[in-house]
Amino acid sequence: MSLRLSVLASGSSGNATYMETDEGGLLVDAGLSCRRIAVLLARIGRRLEDVDAVLLTHGHSDHTSGVRSLVRERGMPIYSAPDVGGRLGTITVEAGETLRIGGLMAEFFEVPHDSRTYGVCVSDDERTAIIATDLGEISVDVLRRMRGAEAVVLEANHELEWLRRGPYPTDLKRRVASGNGHLSNRQTAQAACDLAPHGLKDLVLAHLSKTNNSPARATGTVTSALREAGHGRIRVRAALASHPTPWVDVGELLESPEYAYRYGKGEVQKLFETE
Ligand SMILES: [Zn+2]
Ligand SMILES: [Zn+2]
Repeated sequence: MSLRLSVLASGSSGNATYMETDEGGLLVDAGLSCRRIAVLLARIGRRLEDVDAVLLTHGHSDHTSGVRSLVRERGMPIYSAPDVGGRLGTITVEAGETLRIGGLMAEFFEVPHDSRTYGVCVSDDERTAIIATDLGEISVDVLRRMRGAEAVVLEANHELEWLRRGPYPTDLKRRVASGNGHLSNRQTAQAACDLAPHGLKDLVLAHLSKTNNSPARATGTVTSALREAGHGRIRVRAALASHPTPWVDVGELLESPEYAYRYGKGEVQKLFETE
């Protein structure tokens, strides 16, 4: 049995990640319409019928706006933190509780954000993948939780200098950069270096700001930091707002010393580099 994932869409315009084993699949977040999620799933060869359940990280609309249409269309169970559940009619799950869905075990853990927010740990007994996309800082507890995962989907929201000089109002800049806001490329690079010696093979950078970041900047910052720290053997990809990432086969060994995915000119370009 193998654990696979693809980040279907990521960012403030909508988030959804599909994860599966041979026995079934789930979505983490549904911040796009049911129809849009179906289109994105089709691009990785899957259908809404392959989704057995949806796990919500928190109640912000870029993670939940498709829930009602999904329930109407497919009627699958939706799991979330207690304060999100009431509003959307979802099944409440406490942090630390284990869910079993289609051969997968999923567990939520709390991360610092400006509403109650969960990271998600998904495993198939052998392999583990973690998703943490809205968090203002990586606390010691969160880092400990992520260690040992072979694949991590981690927010790299903004380049701090771009945020500071950018067009956002001062209040919003402060909120985004705060400990309850979103992670900068630098914070994510630091976390990547901390996780690298603990079995990390794939890192997907997520929730990139369209205004204050770019896929090239985010992957460049993180791969440089990893390389400088002597961890060049980790695949680093950036998740896009409107196109699924290539499949991540969780725990798959690297066949080359290093490669990174970069994006430019509106189309996905895969660059293969060997040191
Ligand atoms: Zn978000
Ligand atoms: Zn959020």
